[in-house]
Amino acid sequence: MLLADKVALITGGAGLNGLGFATARCMAEHGARVVVMDLAAADPAAAAAQLGDHHMGVQASVTDKAAVDAAVAQVLERYGRIDILVNNAGITQPRKTVDISPSDYDAVLDVSLRGTLLVSQAVLPAMQAQKSGSIICISSVSAQRGGGILGGPHYSAAKAGVLGLARAMAREFAIEGIRVNCITPGLIGTDILKGKLTEERKAEIAETIPMGRLGHPSDIAGACVFLGSELSAYCTGVTLDVNGGMLIH
Ligand code: NAD
Repeated sequence: MLLADKVALITGGAGLNGLGFATARCMAEHGARVVVMDLAAADPAAAAAQLGDHHMGVQASVTDKAAVDAAVAQVLERYGRIDILVNNAGITQPRKTVDISPSDYDAVLDVSLRGTLLVSQAVLPAMQAQKSGSIICISSVSAQRGGGILGGPHYSAAKAGVLGLARAMAREFAIEGIRVNCITPGLIGTDILKGKLTEERKAEIAETIPMGRLGHPSDIAGACVFLGSELSAYCTGVTLDVNGGMLIH
């Protein structure tokens, strides 16, 4: 039980095939009380119910400051603390540079980058009062290798922005006992790939990965449990690659 008595908030955690829900399940198995934050359409309460009785779903778009603040207030009212935040919500779009419209840019940047800032801002006062906390931001190998697999350049930019934001928050809050780290997943088999990659293309990509396979959501969940737990007590500002060797640098 690496997360006994911890309260963990996971954004974009309601998609049952996604990284967020796999992380929610793994954190619950390690003793955490888990809050799944997601869009109303994704039914976060139903996802949380699948984890058992002690967990909670809250509805908010991470792009909406008022909704995020209200959802975090609900969490604090029920549990009184937030120990772990996983900034996981994200969307992607395959686009070439010249085809990125202003609304494409806003959509992709808003969920990954503005969302990471807004939800972090909402939980930080509670973590400051506790003098402890672990914020985990889900970036992407796309930020490091310049895309080329799934998302367009605006997705790479959003995820590179997440790395910068997380590192700066790590520096700012380390003295208050709050750690901020990033995970850069490689290609993981989730719904985000749906309609964007054929089975043939996935097999081609798998051949280029030293471990010979795409990642499973549980591969990311394990890394999140590590960064959320005291096992990583001296890690802050870290970028943890979880990519099967797809990018070794
Ligand atoms: P997914 O599409 O399965 O899940 C994304 C979740 O985010 C969904 O539950 C969705 O409802 C939620 N969401 C979308 N917009 C939201 C908003 N405005 N507010 C709150 N929730 C919102 O995708 P996934 O593959 O599980 O991706 C999770 C994260 O991992 C994303 O940030 C993604 O960019 C990142 N990532 C994924 C991969 C991969 O290969 N799957 C690789 C690198 C990084």
